[in-house]
Amino acid sequence: MLKYKDLSFWEKRAYTEQIDVVIIGAGIVGMTCALALKRSNPSLRVVVLERGYLPTGASTKNAGFACFGSPSEIFADLNCMRESEVWETVAMRYDGLKRLLELVPAEQMGYDACGSWDLLEKNEHISTDFLAYLNEGIQKISGQSSCYTADHEMLDKSGLCGFKFAFKNRLEGSIQTDQLIDSLYTTCVTKGIKFLYGTAVDAIQSGEVHTAHGSISAHQIVVCTNGFAAQLLPLAVSPARAQVLVTTPIDDLTIHGTFHFDEGYYYFRNIGNRILFGGGRNLDIAGEQTLSMEPTEHIQNHLISLLKTNILPGKSFDIAYQWAGTMGLGESKKPVIQRVDKHTVVGVRMGGMGIAIGSLVGENLSKIVLDE
Ligand SMILES: Cc1cc2nc3c(=O)[nH]c(=O)nc-3n(C[C@H](O)[C@H](O)[C@H](O)COP(=O)(O)OP(=O)(O)OC[C@H]3O[C@@H](n4cnc5c(N)ncnc54)[C@H](O)[C@@H]3O)c2cc1C
Repeated sequence: MLKYKDLSFWEKRAYTEQIDVVIIGAGIVGMTCALALKRSNPSLRVVVLERGYLPTGASTKNAGFACFGSPSEIFADLNCMRESEVWETVAMRYDGLKRLLELVPAEQMGYDACGSWDLLEKNEHISTDFLAYLNEGIQKISGQSSCYTADHEMLDKSGLCGFKFAFKNRLEGSIQTDQLIDSLYTTCVTKGIKFLYGTAVDAIQSGEVHTAHGSISAHQIVVCTNGFAAQLLPLAVSPARAQVLVTTPIDDLTIHGTFHFDEGYYYFRNIGNRILFGGGRNLDIAGEQTLSMEPTEHIQNHLISLLKTNILPGKSFDIAYQWAGTMGLGESKKPVIQRVDKHTVVGVRMGGMGIAIGSLVGENLSKIVLDE
């Protein structure tokens, strides 16, 4: 293995010497933080270290829902988090989504303002009053009225089975995940941000990152490793595997948009005439608290069974892709954004809606770095 000490003059000058900021993790947060730093100070020397040959966490593996909260998920959150914290988190997601759309043109990331639907078999909690409460909350954040509406009639046209209630969020949408990451990466490279892939950071110490290739010093280190954060620092972040599948193309697919059920534990959308379906972590919460990225037969089979009975009944399809990624979760759904010492800042624990919240976190991290 070629060590940093044996790199050429050119390589050292470009990648390892006189670095202002090292960012660990090339996901949405790491890249948006790098871009925000360069925007504030174009002369900063920023290097992103990524352990995988691709980003290997959640940002290239997610379902592409540009979402900030469905009624049943917000209801569940209100039962286990403080009300103020729930709304602060929803506001961060909403603002993050807005920020992302300012950063990456909608057409470049394939943004589709398709709306989302929260589907329920039984409805015990989503009353007219609760919808009004949600709409008031969203209006305070966004200035937009009537974000959530009851839209049960859509179920008649959709071909979906086993759901009796549907609540629409007109302000959510979908993206093409690969296009978003590609756009962020291309912009980073254009701005002179350097990437070292295949570089796992083993430890951080007093402004130095240690890797198997050697160490790099930086004035500031930003840890953007989300579900892997506890490997480097004592942080209250647990990994959570999330599993997904994508079908083969389906004739006469009538489903268009993004859909959630079971408080967000399941989610599906169309990608052209295919269906992406993910979730099922609730079948084995403890078992899915893992850094392994291998899909499991148990959860994948459950997804396939729900696909056949509830989402695509009577349709002919095969499963074309199956994968898993790693999310970062904790007791609260609020991300951890903090300075941990003179040289180190962290922005981790994005939960299940990091597309929305990620760019805001990246930007906030850059401010903490520059305020130092
Ligand atoms: C299957 C799945 C579906 C999802 N669906 C959605 C969705 O539809 N909508 C939504 O908003 N969110 C979704 N999410 C969540 C969202 O993708 C994440 O919240 C978001 O991508 C987190 O971005 P990040 O940059 O913080 O972390 P990540 O994308 O995980 O990036 C962290 C990076 O750090 C790298 N790293 C870790 N440790 C080290 C180390 N020691 N040295 C160097 N590099 C290291 C990892 O390889 C990784 O690339 C989903 C997640 C998964 C897994």
